[in-house]
Amino acid sequence: MIYPWQATQWQHIAQLLRAERLPHALLLHGNQGLGKADFAIALANAVLCRAPLANYQACGQCKSCLLLNAKTHPDLHYLEPTSAKNSKSKNPVLNIRVDDIRDLCETLNQTSQFSGYRVAVLNVAEQLTISAANSLLKTLEEPGQNVLIILVASRIHRLPVTIRSRCQRVRFYVPEQHQSMQWLQERQPALTEDQLRQVLKYANGSPLAAISLLDETEHQEIIAQAMTACLTGKTSLEYAPQLVKFGKLRTLEWMMSWVSDLSKVQSCGSNAEITNVHYRDKLQLLASQAEKHRIYKFYDQLNFNLQHNSIAVNEQLLWENLLLSWDDLGKR
Ligand SMILES: [Zn+2]
Repeated sequence: MIYPWQATQWQHIAQLLRAERLPHALLLHGNQGLGKADFAIALANAVLCRAPLANYQACGQCKSCLLLNAKTHPDLHYLEPTSAKNSKSKNPVLNIRVDDIRDLCETLNQTSQFSGYRVAVLNVAEQLTISAANSLLKTLEEPGQNVLIILVASRIHRLPVTIRSRCQRVRFYVPEQHQSMQWLQERQPALTEDQLRQVLKYANGSPLAAISLLDETEHQEIIAQAMTACLTGKTSLEYAPQLVKFGKLRTLEWMMSWVSDLSKVQSCGSNAEITNVHYRDKLQLLASQAEKHRIYKFYDQLNFNLQHNSIAVNEQLLWENLLLSWDDLGKR
């Protein structure tokens, strides 16, 4: 997808395509949340499409485009950082590894399946390991005919100079506020201009980062409603089906912030340093009713689920169990 704030960058690419002077390696860089990876895929699609439009974008309908849409085109190769195969860590280091680059370079050396371009997109390329970067160098130096390698990076200084110097750079900029606001308003018509401006500020002006923050806000609000339901005579259980649509790990982490805030308020009083500052009054009320041993039990329950996060469970049941324990914090 080409976003409205990427028009200049696309014009530049279109000129290169028109003049048949597309370099074999491009480095798309700029802040996070500007849609660079989407641009990279749109560019890959454009060079693989068999009947590009007048603006050089992919037609979306030819045989190539159908394969691209199904993510099964044999000449498009996408790499992004992953954890090591034998990693058991909960927060593994994500890298693009040498084995992946070797496989990729071998594939790029073969002839195209469709007698056209072979394209590689390396997203978050700054996470290339040193050996992976070295391995990529050879292909960047002698890429062969009709090979396009697109690197996408937000922290360009982390890429080795040897890699940077072999790519033509395309820089992406934070859009003008009015452009981001217009785009956000079309996507979030229910929110006021003030709300959108605020979230855009938190996202440092990056519209896609603002959208992820908004998703997060909805998630946070539902958790807050569930955690404070008992104060309004409701039962938190009715929120379990809503929680299913969000990521399990994030929900567990937010619940952890609630129980941690609760015990802080209970031990340190109303000035305790807490995460959910907007709910301080409600947390105080909850803390005044909660039994310590039940708070610890809830902690244990959450910790157990955090430690076993990778195990598949019936999520609705999980949330029901946790919310039941939360509602029971005041029971003796
Ligand atoms: Zn097409």
